[in-house]
Amino acid sequence: MEDNVKVRSYGQHIVQAPSDVSFCAGCNACEIVCALVHDGVVGPCYNRIFMEKGTQTMVSIINTCQQCSDHPCYEACARKDQALCLDEHGIAYINEEFCIGCKRCIKACVFDPPRINYIKSTDKTKRKAKKCDLCRNRPEGPACVQYCQVSCLSVSDK
Ligand code: SF4
Ligand code: SF4
Repeated sequence: MEDNVKVRSYGQHIVQAPSDVSFCAGCNACEIVCALVHDGVVGPCYNRIFMEKGTQTMVSIINTCQQCSDHPCYEACARKDQALCLDEHGIAYINEEFCIGCKRCIKACVFDPPRINYIKSTDKTKRKAKKCDLCRNRPEGPACVQYCQVSCLSVSDK
């Protein structure tokens, strides 16, 4: 292996089962329950988890934060340890009260599309970053995993 190839590693994060095991129905239930758990609304969905519909293959891809073990978004945050924090299990999460919507975390995300969403608003105080925090304060675990009707989501560090 070339020395300059960086091997990434990840913490616990949401994974999608291969389509030969469980086929994503494209129902958006994961996005809806995520918004309900985090924001107390069923819409709009704030894309902490978001689906890309397969236009030709019918296979939909679920995207969400992979909890990179080096947390580039956390390192880049203008308000590190206030707006973007790491909990005792290494889960990077956003404390919206302190987020100033500067997007530095989004630019630092190593994935395309970035796994942090940004809420646009004419009201500056409502401009916030949103990302998966694995429902870290929810005893039942991630709501998207619990409510996926075809059980195609689970939590893994692989
Ligand atoms: S948008 Fe919020 S969470 Fe992201 S870098 Fe700026 S202050 Fe930190
Ligand atoms: S938001 Fe992006 S950079 Fe940050 S931990 Fe998740 S996948 Fe990695």
